[in-house]
Amino acid sequence: MRSLIDIGVYPFVVPFVPIVGTPLAQQAPPSSELMFELYQTIGAKLKQANLLSADMKAGCAKCGACSALSSFED
Ligand code: SF4
Repeated sequence: MRSLIDIGVYPFVVPFVPIVGTPLAQQAPPSSELMFELYQTIGAKLKQANLLSADMKAGCAKCGACSALSSFED
């Protein structure tokens, strides 16, 4: 994550979602606590680098529907 941010790439982290019929269907999704901790860490680094979803022109970071990460940028 830090390496990506350092070169200007927005690391759009989404929680794993198990899907029926796929090899990882039985894999548990990450806990809310883990995602909160990750998002806090990544969000702080994004803010520090001034790499913000609001400034994105397109893509997942602009859309934001699959991740709560943008909520942790401030
Ligand atoms: S809904 Fe938005 S965030 Fe999710 S995959 Fe599509 S573009 Fe990316």
